[in-house]
Order: sequence, then C-alpha cells, then structure tokens
Amino acid sequence: RMAASVKVAVRVRPFNSRETSRDAKCVIQMQGSSTCIWNPKQPKEAAKNFSFDYSYWSHSSEDDPAFTSQRQVYLDIGEEMLLHAFEGYNVCIFAYGQTGAGKSYTMMGKQEPGQQGIIPQMCEDLFKRTSENTDPDLSYSVEVLLHTPHITETHMTVAATNMNETSSRSHAVFTIVFTQRRRDQLTSLDTEKVSKVSLVDLAGSERADSSGAKGMRLKEGANINKSLTTLGKVISALAEMQNSKRRKSEFIPYRDSVLTWILKENLGGNSRTAMIAALSPADINYEETLSTLRYADRAK
Ligand code: ADP
Repeated sequence: RMAASVKVAVRVRPFNSRETSRDAKCVIQMQGSSTCIWNPKQPKEAAKNFSFDYSYWSHSSEDDPAFTSQRQVYLDIGEEMLLHAFEGYNVCIFAYGQTGAGKSYTMMGKQEPGQQGIIPQMCEDLFKRTSENTDPDLSYSVEVLLHTPHITETHMTVAATNMNETSSRSHAVFTIVFTQRRRDQLTSLDTEKVSKVSLVDLAGSERADSSGAKGMRLKEGANINKSLTTLGKVISALAEMQNSKRRKSEFIPYRDSVLTWILKENLGGNSRTAMIAALSPADINYEETLSTLRYADRAK
C-alpha cells in the first residue's frame, strides 16, 4: 500500500456496564496494526481480518501493556495532523462508529488528567507551539468554530432508542482556522498560509432499523445514514485516486450530503485526512462492529 492521504485507525473500548451485566463476550483481537473479529455464532476459524494504520486496544485494564492511552492516540494521529496544518495543509479527523463505541471519548475525552481527547490536546499543543515562536517576522492567528450540520428540532429532544442509550443524532464539527503570517523584511509584504483543521465527531452509525426509530426520527436516521454513506464514498474515492496516483479528478460526490459539502475543502486536494473508527468489544454488538470495520476498511 502506497502512502495514502487517509490514515485509518480503529479503537476498541472496554466493556460498558450494560455489556458486563449481560455477560457479553469479547469478539475482537488485535495484533500489531491488525484487527480480527469473529461471529459469536460461528467457529473462530471464520474470523475476519483487517489491517489498518493503527489498531488500538483498550479493552482490559489500564495495566494491560497494550492499553492505548489518550496521549498515544494524540501522538500518533493528532500531532501528525497538527504538523500538516503547520505545513499549510487542511486537515480533517473523523471519529466514526456506533453510539456508545467511544467517538466522543476519542475526540473530546474527559476532564480528568490523562483522559483528554484529541481536540483539547491538539488545542493545547497548537498554543504551545505558537507561543514558542521566536521569529519576529512570523505571527499566528487562531479561530475556533463549532457547528452541527443537519440541525433539526428533533435534535433537541433527548429520546432513548431501543439501543438503550441516547443515540447521538447529529454530527459535531469542531473547526480551527489557523493562519500563519510571514512578513518579508525587504518588501514589508505579508504572505499568509491558512489551514482549516476540522475535527468531527460523527453521528452514531447504527442503522435506523436496528434502533427501532420511527417517524421523524427514522427520517432523521436516514439523513444521517446518507451523510455517513456519502462521506464513506468521498473518502474511498479520494483514497483510490491517491493510491492509484491518478491525478485526474474523478467524480467525487461532495454534493450528495451537507456534511461532505461543508468539509469539501478539508477532503481531497490540499488536505490530509484521518479516521478513527470506534468499536465495542462485545459479541452483542457484532453486526454493528463488523459494519464499522468494513466502513473503515473502505476508507484506506
Ligand atoms: P460515543 O461518542 O461513540 O457515543 P462515548 O465516547 O460517549 O461514545 O463512549 C461511551 C462510554 O465509554 C463513555 O463512558 C466513555 O467514557 C467510555 N469509553 C469510550 N472509549 C473508551 C476508551 N477507549 N477507554 C475508556 N473508556 C472509554
């Protein structure tokens, strides 16, 4: 595989209390960068194997040597993307997966020390790096935006679906517009390098039919599925274009969803993309987890 523009990681979380109380079994195994999943109803020989840039294990205790810390995820993915932003690229990091699989934990994390996700760590790192600047001809500005495409009234209602957890219905896009301005001593002219960094906590990928959503919520679920499917198509098309080194711009369906339209300049062209697919370790989520792995696999 050639150096692609899309970095893909998968991350499995520990069992949650619901899985533990149902005596759920772990159906995922990771070794190096590969991830293996098996159907609890089939012999283990029928397991499916996937290979990604990173496979992050956090299923057992923190003492497990293979446990991947928030820091490590940041160092592997967040820092690399931040360095691309300093180079002048637009960058985009997505967290994809079923509700409750660990998307917000990966992107935002928690307040406690060591629990912060990619967004707060990247902001801190960005301010640290810019404040260390000693070049009088170089200055920076940083703007931060937060928005959720697909806002409808029903997003405001908190209704639990049959998933037994509140489904995260909308995408959350956190954007940093990072400008580097350099003054030319001789001409006194400024040149600007502007990078847009989009950090996206996608809506839960569970299909509307499996969550028992009805009416308005079902329609909303269909919209979200459409945007996730389009995002998948856009990323695969871009990855394919990059991998085959065919530079002619093939048709990339940005216009097919609001999400991809908003992220157009962050995907493809002068940009670097990373996706982190969040996984439940439990047999009871096998189908959803397999579909998340397939989605991540197509992004490579
Ligand atoms: P999502 O955003 O995909 O709906 P969350 O990020 O809210 O899911 O995760 C669900 C729960 O699992 C949260 O309580 C979160 O703290 C916990 N969790 C998720 N991923 C991890 C992880 N890698 N390590 C420890 N706890 C995690």
